[in-house]
Amino acid sequence: MSFQSIPKVELHTHLEGCAPPAFIRGLAAEKNIDISGIFADDGGYAFRDFDHFLQVYEAACTTLQTPQDFRRLTMAVLEETAAHGVVYMETFVSPDFCGGGDLAAWKDYLAAMKDAADEAEAKLGITLKGIVTGIRHFGPEASKPAARCAAETFGDFITGYGMAGGEMVGRPGDYAYSFDMAREAGLPLTCHAGEWGGPSMVAETLRDLKVARVGHGIGAIEDLALVDEIAEQGVVLEVCPGSNVVLKAVKGWTDHPIEKLRERGVKVTVSTDDPPFFHTTMTAEYEMLHRTFGWNEEDFATLNQTALAAAFCDEDTRARVAKRLEPAND
Ligand SMILES: [Zn+2]
Repeated sequence: MSFQSIPKVELHTHLEGCAPPAFIRGLAAEKNIDISGIFADDGGYAFRDFDHFLQVYEAACTTLQTPQDFRRLTMAVLEETAAHGVVYMETFVSPDFCGGGDLAAWKDYLAAMKDAADEAEAKLGITLKGIVTGIRHFGPEASKPAARCAAETFGDFITGYGMAGGEMVGRPGDYAYSFDMAREAGLPLTCHAGEWGGPSMVAETLRDLKVARVGHGIGAIEDLALVDEIAEQGVVLEVCPGSNVVLKAVKGWTDHPIEKLRERGVKVTVSTDDPPFFHTTMTAEYEMLHRTFGWNEEDFATLNQTALAAAFCDEDTRARVAKRLEPAND
């Protein structure tokens, strides 16, 4: 089985987190920014743990300063992602890294990203949609401009609102204002929870933020009543196994709860999160799922149908992408 050629739908990525290290090093050199400390000897990103990962991530982001930088970033990311068979991708984009939450600046960055996305779609047959993201560890007040940017630019390219960053900062309910604002503007919602915070964080996120999808959500496994509730409500988990293994949210692949969650009826999907940081790709994720849990072509087809059904795109796009998932009949 060629895992690389399976057409894939990926829902949980962070645009800056997908930046190839060589691309970031190139930008840093162009702009005379010294971020040599964030790289390992092999040229990849180097970090010790989750908090250090966030610091390295933000240091890499300092090289991304203009809409043009984001145009180039988007193209570099889509070329890499399309090479692993991804035909539809959703990515978290943050107004905090694109003009500091200013709406006019945000629109310029967005236009540049959309331009690159359109070009990549025509050239590579991959569709990209953006989910505006508040950064949790910047605090509830700082997430309000992000939600406002989401509400004002919801449409063809921006199709959802969510929250990423340090999960242990505050409680989900502290961020309800931003999620309410986005919901009232019609945006579908997702939020990182249960990567570190355990079942209570997942339960509070569902109760207080009323999201349709949860980023990671794996901590729910410690409370089977909650798992059953998630399954019953049809909440979709954006599971990123390789990320969880590298950041040590789980002990290893064999301990990863994705299989147990799936067996219990939860709608699971698979994504790479920040692939170069975690030395992963969608091909590598599929290989490991096959090797660890015996997932086969049929399992991956179901996985991608679940992901497409949960995608935050419009129905025309969904129908178009569905065709790309059909097995080639030539
Ligand atoms: Zn994430």
